[in-house]
Amino acid sequence: MTTALFEPLPLQPVGVIHSPFREKFGIPRQPGLLPDVPATLELLPPYDDPDCVRGLDGFSHLWLIFQFHAVSAGQWQPLVRPPRLGGNARMGVFASRSTHRPNSLGLSVVRLVKVETEEGVRLHISGADLLDGTPIFDIKPYLPYADAIAGAVAAYAAEAPAAKLHVAFTEQAREECERHKKTYGLDIALLIRRMLELDPRPAYHADSRRQYGFRLADYDVRWVVEGDRAEVLALVPVSPLK
Ligand code: SAH
Repeated sequence: MTTALFEPLPLQPVGVIHSPFREKFGIPRQPGLLPDVPATLELLPPYDDPDCVRGLDGFSHLWLIFQFHAVSAGQWQPLVRPPRLGGNARMGVFASRSTHRPNSLGLSVVRLVKVETEEGVRLHISGADLLDGTPIFDIKPYLPYADAIAGAVAAYAAEAPAAKLHVAFTEQAREECERHKKTYGLDIALLIRRMLELDPRPAYHADSRRQYGFRLADYDVRWVVEGDRAEVLALVPVSPLK
């Protein structure tokens, strides 16, 4: 048996994601857990040519192949602790969707909302589990006849994770959400609710009563948990990270 000596594959991003998720913490662990979150995929030169996306608007969903660029390269281990197993049991990296993997490549299916080709090319998508600034290496149309497999088995991740926390907002947080919705049209309260219902805390924090925060759109969203109730304390405006 021979071992092929493959050349490294030089990859160049074809596009970049603009999303409200400004840090990893809090992002749902698969697309579709937040089907309505809007994001934009901006194609980069020389791929920002309308010819590259001709015919794409006839597809409702896309596969995106991307780099987990906010994970340090080379940090992968053969065994990982999938959050779905409570962070205790270990599974093979290739039996998981862990972000720490050889080649740091991710795969997400998203809904295609609109193809815009006025100036460059922008794909308006929804449901992406992607950090703002994620480099996209390939885009492929989702093919239901080939990609949707009825009766497929998914061991420890058979169902979407259930909501774990009830979510409440302080008056101040609710008002800030209303202001944001009026200005930008994004129902940020619903987004925060969905993110917190899934309980993004690391398993080993589950009992602590500390204050948490994540960057979402241009806010630092502050929240606490007591028992099975999360409370959003405030949305503190911050200048965009860049
Ligand atoms: N659907 C993808 C991603 C699963 S992991 C796949 O199966 O390959 C999902 C997690 O990736 C999110 O919770 C988020 O924290 C993390 N993530 C998203 N974009 C990232 C990026 N650019 N760099 C590092 N981590 C990222």
